[in-house]
Amino acid sequence: MESGIGEYCGLFGIHDVEHAASLAVLGLNALQHRGQESAGIVSSEGSVLHRRIGLGLVGEVFPDHESLQLLPGRSAIGHVRYSTHGASDYRNTQPFRVVTKDGELAMAHNGNISNARQLRAELERAGVIFQTTTDSEIILHRMARSQCESFVDRLKEGLSGLQGAYSLVFLSREGLVAARDPFGYRPLAMGELEGRTVFASESCAFDIIGASYVRDVEPGELILVNGEGLQSQRIAPQRRPAHCIFELVYFSRPDSKIFGENVDKTRRKLGKALAFEADVDDADITVPVPDSSNTSALGFSRRSETKFELGLIRNHYVGRTFIAPEQKGRTERVKLKFNAVEGVIRGRRVVLVDDSIVRGTTMNKLVDLLRKAGAAEVHVRITSPPVRYPCYYGMDFPDPEELLANQHESLEEIRDAIGADSLAYLSLEGMLRATEKDPRDFCSACFSGCYPEPVEGIDATIDNGKADSLMDHGDAG
Ligand code: SF4
Repeated sequence: MESGIGEYCGLFGIHDVEHAASLAVLGLNALQHRGQESAGIVSSEGSVLHRRIGLGLVGEVFPDHESLQLLPGRSAIGHVRYSTHGASDYRNTQPFRVVTKDGELAMAHNGNISNARQLRAELERAGVIFQTTTDSEIILHRMARSQCESFVDRLKEGLSGLQGAYSLVFLSREGLVAARDPFGYRPLAMGELEGRTVFASESCAFDIIGASYVRDVEPGELILVNGEGLQSQRIAPQRRPAHCIFELVYFSRPDSKIFGENVDKTRRKLGKALAFEADVDDADITVPVPDSSNTSALGFSRRSETKFELGLIRNHYVGRTFIAPEQKGRTERVKLKFNAVEGVIRGRRVVLVDDSIVRGTTMNKLVDLLRKAGAAEVHVRITSPPVRYPCYYGMDFPDPEELLANQHESLEEIRDAIGADSLAYLSLEGMLRATEKDPRDFCSACFSGCYPEPVEGIDATIDNGKADSLMDHGDAG
């Protein structure tokens, strides 16, 4: 077990509907961008749970109607997963299903438990045998060992003492449960379909099944849904949240609502803020890096009054480069994934807008593509600050040494490394102010190095409430 093993995932849960597993497949399809290495569904017929999991895309694990025949029942939870550290084996595929004193119990997790190493060691010393290498399994063992009277209290005790990020859905004979860590790092929303309750990582999973968004599962809230209705309880006292700003900048779908914000709207504002801070004089066109930067580039184009053009085309049949587990695979995929539209690019001074630069391997090649297509100039604009620090809350960032911003002394050196004519990042303040919420309600630790809570074995921590002072020190270009 390695500290800081990251994984990001998508969750879905639905209670008391016909064809629950079919709806879960649709929901997981909408969440496919959150994880492409494995998919799984557990359905419930009261006290009996049925499970089908597999490596690959949702459509590969559930290719046809027949693949759902073994998932009867009126409630279901589902999971799509991406993992790092080569741990994408079958054992780690979720939802997990175990047998406890509460009968069969299934769980799916999005996030990363930042004190997993210590908790796992404690359990192992007590004789617990682990079946997987995931931090998610720790949660199940802690619940199973609880001596509390009720099912919900056992769940709550299992969650107490966890640090880091967890959005969770559970399924048992007691009903469907959703829970979220006190900081609310990862999104988890509640929806409604003809009077029945649905949970999903992003609201785009509600749209696909005709459900409507009701509200977010609150940070530190646990919701049990069963025949008696809906019961909400606190896992921990209310506190200032630390929603992952990267979800809004890059990761979530623009047609989703997360943290109560429309992703599309926030991304447009990020683009506008960037154009305000770092416009390019005499540029001819604004070109997004498709697809995650489309809307932020639209915002940039509007604010800078530079024509928006689709100068790069993405091949949708190749996975997201950021998601490739191996560096080698990532490099090859960049070439497969993008092509420049020469008729749009040739002779133009191009502003290329992207949401972030992590390793820089993609950006380097995109600038090259644009130059080969005849661009007169390529000016790179990034709608977030330089990524310099690891994420311990469920987003896969490489070692700090692998981050492009850490490999160079100055902005000028980074510009040179990616081969652009100019380069500018959005400031930390500009990024946080593009959201509808109080800027202190977000985690921006991968940009600032200031973490909302202590991280096992790491010194750099700071109270999220100090984000105000951080915002005075944005070091972006
Ligand atoms: S460190 Fe970055 S990616 Fe991780 S939760 Fe915080 S903002 Fe999100």
